[in-house]
Amino acid sequence: MIPFNRPYLTGKETHYIYEAVNSGKLSGNGMFSKRCQSFFENEYGFKKCLLTTSCTDALEMAAILCGIEFGDEVIIPSYTFVSTALAFVRQGAKIIFADSMSNHPNIDVDTIESLITSRTKVIVPVHYAGVACDMTKLMALADKYGLLVVEDAAQAIDSFYTKPINISGNQKKSALGSIGHFGCFSFHETKNIISGEGGMLAINDERFIERAEVIWEKGTNRAQFFRGEINKYGWVDIGSSFLPSEVIAAFLWAQIENMSLIQGRRIDIWNRYYEGLKELASNNQILLPTDLGYSTNNAHMFYLICPSIFIRTRLIEFLKTNDVFSVFHYISLHNSLYYKEKHDGRVLKNCDMFSDCLIRLPMYNELTNEEIDFVVSKVYEFFVETQQI
Ligand SMILES: *Cc1c(COP(=O)(O)O)cnc(C)c1O
Repeated sequence: MIPFNRPYLTGKETHYIYEAVNSGKLSGNGMFSKRCQSFFENEYGFKKCLLTTSCTDALEMAAILCGIEFGDEVIIPSYTFVSTALAFVRQGAKIIFADSMSNHPNIDVDTIESLITSRTKVIVPVHYAGVACDMTKLMALADKYGLLVVEDAAQAIDSFYTKPINISGNQKKSALGSIGHFGCFSFHETKNIISGEGGMLAINDERFIERAEVIWEKGTNRAQFFRGEINKYGWVDIGSSFLPSEVIAAFLWAQIENMSLIQGRRIDIWNRYYEGLKELASNNQILLPTDLGYSTNNAHMFYLICPSIFIRTRLIEFLKTNDVFSVFHYISLHNSLYYKEKHDGRVLKNCDMFSDCLIRLPMYNELTNEEIDFVVSKVYEFFVETQQI
């Protein structure tokens, strides 16, 4: 059987957990948390990183920091995970869903300006499959209308926007998650770098750092207290317990140490799928991921686009009968049970197309070349057979 995902362990996880346990400090914001945070700040140019218990939590922190109030509007792609919207809905925001591009699941930045009103406060680009949204255009819009940008970079660790960006005269670094005011990452076991459940908020605008530390620790000024800046800590703001324990951070550190190994293998897998399926795509049987020309690929996932939901359903079934587990992805949020009554009725046809036609193939570090070739051969076999009907 070839599963869809298998969490990859570097072998050092339990060693560092043992070290954390023996250090006698198990709650959050200890040595391992700081080590992980510093690594990300130095490696990717985020101004300040705070580990969280999930990307959902990082998004919730961002929503609080953006100062969302009841009725504020937040522009989000409909083709995304629920947390992208949920974090803002909890703060009272009205979600305005944008469509995907026709050739990529990412938000179609050209449709955003027509969605901006006097109530719009935030845009949330989601870098689907670790591939960058068009951040030059998006940041220019945010600048023009005075909006905040929260990058949902849950899938985008170690991926880069490759064009230079100029915001209000400042040249910005280009790691995904470092371009907007905030970047939110996930270390869920289905992502590239994992800690079971886990996440991180990257704060790129200095104005928000102090308040972020308060919100992170239940609305208290503990961080200042431990730095000796005040003699007593107290309750000063809203917040929650957003920080993970040292056990989680220790696990994450083992993954971070092996980042280039993990990423290298994933990229090899991705390229092997791509090469293997190229011919099928050139015969117009399927579409392969489009290279948008302004992003690196962190090989978070390998997907293809089938001609219809009917064919996709049958392909998933066919692969399953051959012991290969493939999955579809998001159901458009504007059609979800929770949100469809609140949506303004606009048809988001590209998003619906990806909901119907996108299929993800097995992708994990221990997938062997033989297994990849087997999956590829089965995809070919399926299309040869369906053509004959
Ligand atoms: C995985 C994911 C999330 C949620 O991450 P958690 O760490 O599970 O909360 C949010 N947004 C996107 C785009 C994701 O892929």
